[in-house]
This record gives sequence, C-alpha cells and structure tokens, in this order.
Amino acid sequence: MERTPLVAGNWKMFKTRVEAADFCSAFLPLVDELDEVDLAICPPFTAIDIVAERLGDSGVGVWGQNAHDAAEGAFTGEISCGMLIDAGATGALLGHSERRALFGETDEMLARKLRSALAAGLEPVLCIGESEAERDGGATESRLRTQLDGALDGLSASHVLQVTVAYEPVWAIGTGRSATPEIAQETHAFIRGALGERFGEECAAAVRILYGGSVKPDNAGSLLAQPDVDGALVGGASLDPQGFAAIARAALAG
Ligand code: PEP
Repeated sequence: MERTPLVAGNWKMFKTRVEAADFCSAFLPLVDELDEVDLAICPPFTAIDIVAERLGDSGVGVWGQNAHDAAEGAFTGEISCGMLIDAGATGALLGHSERRALFGETDEMLARKLRSALAAGLEPVLCIGESEAERDGGATESRLRTQLDGALDGLSASHVLQVTVAYEPVWAIGTGRSATPEIAQETHAFIRGALGERFGEECAAAVRILYGGSVKPDNAGSLLAQPDVDGALVGGASLDPQGFAAIARAALAG
C-alpha cells in the first residue's frame, strides 16, 4: 500500500516565538514544491499559535509535544487536547521517551491520552521504543509489544487508522547514534506485523510508522528508503530550516 511519507520536527524545549517565526519564514520557501511529503512541526506550547499563523495554508502541520487526557481541571503545567486545537495544533506527540523517562508517563496514561486525542479530533502520534539494555538483552520486541498493546488497548481498527506510530529507540535519541537502516526496517516490520495481528492486515498496511533517533540530512535517505519506514520524527536536526528541509527532501526520494 502507498503511504504518503511524513516528516515531523520535534523542537522539544527550544525556540522563542520570534525564533519560531523566523524558522517558518526560512523553511517554507525550501519546501514549497514538496507536495508529496506531509510535514509537521512540534513547537513548544508558547509558539504553537505563531507557528500555525506563519505556516498558514502551506499544508505543514503543527502538533503539540504532549497532551493531557482531561478536557480541563486542576492539572498545573498540563495542556488539554482541546487547548492544543484552540492554539492551532492538529496533532500531538504522545509518549515521547523523554515524557516517559522524565515525567513518568505510563502505557495506561497513554491509553487515556490516545482516546482523548481521538475524541477531540487531534491526530495522535504514539511514540514507542526500547532502551539500550532492552535491545542488548533481546527484549526489544516484547517491550514494543507491551507499549503498543498498552496504549492501543481497546481501540478499534478504525481508531488505529487515525494513529501514527513513531518508533524511537531510546538509545538513538539525541545521541548521534541512529539505528542502521536494517535495524529500522526490521523493527518497523515487526511493529507493522504486531498491528496486523491485533487490528488486521488492512489497518496495519495503512498506518504510518515513523523512525526517530538521530535522523540527520546525511542518514535520512538510507533510513527513509526502507519499505516500512514511512517518514521521520526529527529532534535536533529539525531546529535548522535547511537541515530539516533536506531531510524532508530525502523522504521524497525514499
Ligand atoms: C526526538 O526527540 O524525537 C528525536 C528523535 O531526537 P533526535 O533527532 O535529536 O535524536
């Protein structure tokens, strides 16, 4: 099945509103002709509105980096799906490894977040990935299966069709040590197979699975050329408009 490639940039806790606006001005002309690749940027919450405004009708999406499952309430420091939409976002990363490791997000929490995002009409991007110890200990597949089963528990295939999965091995995030194209392909094929067992082959064939972890302009081409790698979730290299645009162009070639 043809899946439109998707390249998303996770800015983490970087860029002021002015810096975010400057990025958009520099980036848009570089991807003007790139109609066959879907693009999205995940700015800090404070810059979502300005990025959405500057990207206008370019087709480049704006996503949150996290969302709470409650619509509102006494959750200091959190943001709801409805608030993200109100600010101009159309999707959200859920379960990024930094959220899991530093802020205690569990698969149970992610199951609730996914449901809330789907109910609110916010495209969920479920991030999963194994640690280095899990890979070395041969526990990659069981870890990924636990994360998928936990977060997607009880969802129907029609819901899962609206979810994007981002495979981000923890050992590759921010380390400069990307997965090899072979490891990425093998793991993405495993994830697609696990989705197929649970939600049917048709659903699994349609879900986009992004690779994330030290994607740079010079390794993006070989990663994105893999048949089950449908795009990239890019951290550090998405902060630079030229570098991020180069990765987006690599998705076209892949
Ligand atoms: C990320 O934060 O999702 C990520 C993949 O980071 P980096 O590209 O910097 O490894």
